[in-house]
Amino acid sequence: MSETALPYDAIIIGAGAAGLMCAAVAGGRGRRILLIDHAEKPGKKILISGGGRCNFTNLYASHENYLSNNPHFCKSALSRFTAADFISMVEARGIAYHERSHGQLFCDDSARDIVDMLLTSCRDGSVEMRMNTEVQSVERNDDGFALSTNRGELQCRQLVVASGGLSLPKIGASPFGLKLAEQFGLPVVAPRAGLVPFAFTGSDMQALKELAGISLDVTVHCRGACFTEAMLFTHRGLSGPAILQISSIWQAGDDISIDLLPGRDIEGDLAAWQAERPQAQLSTALATMLPKRLVRLLCDSLIRDMKLEHMTQADRDKIAATLHNWRLKPAGTEGYRTAEVTLGGVDTAALSSKDMQVRGIPGLYFIGEVVDVSGHLGGFNFQWAWSSGHACGMAL
Ligand SMILES: Cc1cc2nc3c(=O)[nH]c(=O)nc-3n(C[C@H](O)[C@H](O)[C@H](O)COP(=O)(O)OP(=O)(O)OC[C@H]3O[C@@H](n4cnc5c(N)ncnc54)[C@H](O)[C@@H]3O)c2cc1C
Repeated sequence: MSETALPYDAIIIGAGAAGLMCAAVAGGRGRRILLIDHAEKPGKKILISGGGRCNFTNLYASHENYLSNNPHFCKSALSRFTAADFISMVEARGIAYHERSHGQLFCDDSARDIVDMLLTSCRDGSVEMRMNTEVQSVERNDDGFALSTNRGELQCRQLVVASGGLSLPKIGASPFGLKLAEQFGLPVVAPRAGLVPFAFTGSDMQALKELAGISLDVTVHCRGACFTEAMLFTHRGLSGPAILQISSIWQAGDDISIDLLPGRDIEGDLAAWQAERPQAQLSTALATMLPKRLVRLLCDSLIRDMKLEHMTQADRDKIAATLHNWRLKPAGTEGYRTAEVTLGGVDTAALSSKDMQVRGIPGLYFIGEVVDVSGHLGGFNFQWAWSSGHACGMAL
């Protein structure tokens, strides 16, 4: 087949965040792009993200906010299409947004604004979109790549895999990209759920269940990493931003350590209470610093309740140590059913950091979450989708 006979310069599999960005950029550069997806509509994860308001980037995004076997890999793409570049796109379309804590940017109105912006850019670049199109197989041939889909055969010289990770299978996540990587002999870093609540079993679960609904600011530590944000007790265990963040570091069998009163001098506070109200109970003093139900649990299991006048220096030290270092062992995570991201993916060693092209297979690209680059919570995962999609779109 001659080059001019092919109707598209490139086919992109996956009309999610990375695929839409890549298509918009390549289409804007005059490339003939076909964007296909097995879902019935594009950008479904964008639509449900950030509670419907899409935390679309983070003002402080840098390579330090990403987990990968090669933490340097993401630097190039992130520096060539930055958070400021995406914000410029958002502002150019007149989308209202606001900053929440830690530099996280959200739409004022709806995540739909971000999807519409990307779809408009795709339309401006004459990108053809086919939804409800499932790729059944991909073979390499002399003309590039032959795709079999449920809606017929397709041929292209350049193929971009933007099929995302494994999280949230119910809205279209699939192992397609990882399987394709394996088919082409590429190394894959074993995937696992990230940014995901912890589940507990047995007596831990029974105890934590009693606290369901309580939220408080904590610092959580695991494997030398720590995050200070809110933690939420749930009916299954623990969730909230601090827990989601540490879940990406946690490995099965690890303990986590929770500082329930970060930055606070508990020993000094208890000494002051003891001097002022020696007749009061320790639990009464603790209830001025922590939710009552949590204090009850701590006093039932870890700390001996007592009249403050009986508290020794050793007791104060032990209570402070316990509250600053509450150790729990999660039984596991809630898995891909609720995870915000998939850790692992196509090993970056197989890809060029400049344009995401597979080394040794010209014309094959992997972008977005299917690659072994995963962000912290806070808009970093979308920024990776935009940056890697942009890098690839500039190369097609
Ligand atoms: C509930 C939730 C909330 C989130 N909130 C945020 C947030 O606020 N901020 C943030 O930065 N990140 C957030 N994330 C993470 C973010 O959504 C992802 O990291 C990002 O969408 C990844 O982009 P992607 O294009 O690589 O994959 P996706 O956006 O998942 O897109 C992949 C696309 O490929 C399609 N596809 C899959 N398999 C096939 C196949 N075999 N054939 C054809 N098409 C296929 C899918 O239908 C999908 O449209 C959230 C994730 C979840 C689950």
